Amino acid sequence: MKILVPVKRVIDYNVKPRVKADGTGVDLANVKMSMNPFDEIAVEEAIRLKEKGAATEIVAVSIGPAKAQETLRTALAMGADRAILIETDEEVEPLAVAKILKAIADEEQPGLVILGKQSISDDSNQTGQMLAALMGRPQGTFANTVEVDGDSVTVKREVDGGLQTVKLATPAIVTTDLRLNEPRYASLPNIMKAKQKPLATKTAADYGVDLTPRLKTIKVAEPPVRQAGEKVADVAALVEKVKALGIA
Ligand code: AMP
Repeated sequence: MKILVPVKRVIDYNVKPRVKADGTGVDLANVKMSMNPFDEIAVEEAIRLKEKGAATEIVAVSIGPAKAQETLRTALAMGADRAILIETDEEVEPLAVAKILKAIADEEQPGLVILGKQSISDDSNQTGQMLAALMGRPQGTFANTVEVDGDSVTVKREVDGGLQTVKLATPAIVTTDLRLNEPRYASLPNIMKAKQKPLATKTAADYGVDLTPRLKTIKVAEPPVRQAGEKVADVAALVEKVKALGIA
């Protein structure tokens, strides 16, 4: 079974994003970029399934600028077998990503597509669900555990107040939640080996997908600045303060 793993290049999770002065978006100039953390978890899960003998090949895919090659090389260094970059400098919305992934899935025929539950750049949480709809295949979102058994995959899903277990017939779509696994670091020898692994570069036009955005961003703004706290001498003073503020 082949596994397709879409990986997105996003601002590194340790970086505090800065909003552009004109409010049109987030400033990406000279900012450290990395693989979306949920996608690292997806790559790790695919590798674990391959190590268990449940998968034979892992194909990493990224839709983004030429620099997304670095993200794909990271996936290859972790253990993916080959990579496909769909190169574009446009901002790509989840529907367009899902359409490209559907076209790649038609070509590659993976048994599983493992995506992140959301990209930390846009927090959309849409691509996996849209892909499942476009492919007409079952989805197990917010995966906490993934077990492949023959032609089916059992996914324990993180839902409000517990775990829900679903059994999906493959080909299926899975999206990863935070507790699914802890991704490995790529070792130096594997980073070197990854440079020799195949990486194909394509365009959205090769898959007949129109990337024109459907949404218009009106404004991006920083969250309101939190007011400073105040230290009080003792519990009595705290109670007084709370009463004075009218919140108790
Ligand atoms: P989103 O729906 O944007 O929150 O993204 C959910 C998941 O879809 C991500 O964790 C990735 O696995 C995948 N994805 C979204 N955008 C891209 C992209 N440009 N390239 C590759 N994968 C993507």
